[in-house]
Amino acid sequence: MLGALVMNTGKTMTDHTGSCLCGGITYRVTGSLRPVIACHCQQCRKTSGHHVAATSAPRDRITITGEVRWFQSSPLARRGFCPTCGSNLFWDGPGENLSIFAGTLDGTTGLQLAGHIFCADKGDYYEIADKALPKADGYDPNLTTTVGKP
Ligand SMILES: [Zn+2]
Ligand SMILES: [Zn+2]
Repeated sequence: MLGALVMNTGKTMTDHTGSCLCGGITYRVTGSLRPVIACHCQQCRKTSGHHVAATSAPRDRITITGEVRWFQSSPLARRGFCPTCGSNLFWDGPGENLSIFAGTLDGTTGLQLAGHIFCADKGDYYEIADKALPKADGYDPNLTTTVGKP
């Protein structure tokens, strides 16, 4: 309900910007972002070199500038990266939201980590030390879709 209220007034919303490492790709998100979810699945590990921490927003509130290269990483999803510097920026899967890798956001985000998914697939060289946050063995739509959804 709070999200809907914020969306209707439009006044308390803050734009967020981000970019890849070389600056060839920039993006702007109008309005609020979903809290950050860490994904420990094998694809996120391979693409990021560790695990992914992603926020998201509805696609129609995101403006991307620059040439994103898309890799179809599964039948349902593709991942967007910069062909120049290789930065991983986006996960584009089912649903209305586009996932944005939180490390590519500029400046102070005001976001917080809200949970971990695909914990069963995590690397064996680290522990997930967040005692208070929800941790799902696999996909958890309550975390990825509902949390912070406007
Ligand atoms: Zn780049
Ligand atoms: Zn993942």
